[in-house]
Amino acid sequence: MVQVVGVHKFFGDLHVLRGIDLTVDPGEVCVVLGPSGSGKSTLLRCLNELETISAGRILVRGELLGYREETRPDGSAVLHELPDKIVSRQRSRIGMVFQRFNLFPHMTALENVMEAPIQVARRSKAQARSRAQELLSRVGLADRADHYPSELSGGQQQRVAIARALAMDPEIMLFDEPTSALDPELVGEVLGVMKDLAASGMTMIVVTHEIGFAREVADRVVFMDQGVIVEQGSPVEVIAHPREARTREFFSKVL
Ligand code: ATP
Ligand code: MG
Repeated sequence: MVQVVGVHKFFGDLHVLRGIDLTVDPGEVCVVLGPSGSGKSTLLRCLNELETISAGRILVRGELLGYREETRPDGSAVLHELPDKIVSRQRSRIGMVFQRFNLFPHMTALENVMEAPIQVARRSKAQARSRAQELLSRVGLADRADHYPSELSGGQQQRVAIARALAMDPEIMLFDEPTSALDPELVGEVLGVMKDLAASGMTMIVVTHEIGFAREVADRVVFMDQGVIVEQGSPVEVIAHPREARTREFFSKVL
C-alpha cells in the first residue's frame, strides 16, 4: 500500500531523514516510535505531501507521490514535479490527524466533517451531511453534531478530527501523536476509536508514545532515531526484545 524507498529530507543543512525504507501493507497498522527530533513528524508530513522529499521515492498503491518519472532513451530516470491539482488529489486519499485538533472553530462538529467532501470532493450538501452524521456516530459523537469545537472536550474534538479525516474516504490514515495534547482521562476514548478503525481494516501509520497501543494494535513497530529506522518488526520483537542498543535504551526510559 505504502512504499517508502531511500527517502532523504533536508531542511537547509539539517539532514532530518537519512534514507528511510518502509513498506506498509494494506490493512496494516504501523506504529512509529522514537525520541523527540528523530524525524517522525517529518516522515508523516512527507507521506501526506506537506513536505517535498529531497531524495528517494514514496509510492501509494504503486503511484509515485509528487512526481512523474520519465525514462530517458539512455535508460536514466528524470523526475518531474506533478501539478498542484494532482498533488491535492493524491493528498485527499490520505487522511491525517494531528496532535492539535485543528478543527475550524466557527463550524459545528457536523460542519467540520462536511467541509472537505463539499469543497474538495464536490459532494452534494445532503450527501455530505448524511455521511458526516454516520461518521460522528461511528466515533461516538452523534449527540454532539451541533456543538462548536469550544463546546467539546479535547477527546471529543480529536474524535471529530478523526471523523473529518475519514469523510474523504482515505485509503490510509496518518496519526501524529493524536493523544499527546489530551488530559490523561481522555486518551482512552481516542485510542478506542483508533482501535476500532484498525479492526475495520484501515491502513494506518501512527506516531505515538502510547506503548500500550503499540503492543496491542500494531502489526509493525518502527523505531526511529536521528533520521533512520533503527529497527522494525512485530511489537514483541521491537518492544519486548529489541536487538539494537539504541532501541533498548529508549524503551528502558519510557517503559
Ligand atoms: P517530536 O517527537 O518532538 O514530535 P519528531 O520525531 O516528530 O519529534 P520532527 O518534527 O520530524 O521530529 O523533526 C525532526 C528534525 O527536523 C528536528 O530537528 C526539527 O527541529 C527539524 N525540523 C522539522 N521541521 C522543520 C522545518 N520546517 N524547518 C527546519 N527544521 C525542521
Ligand atoms: Mg513530531
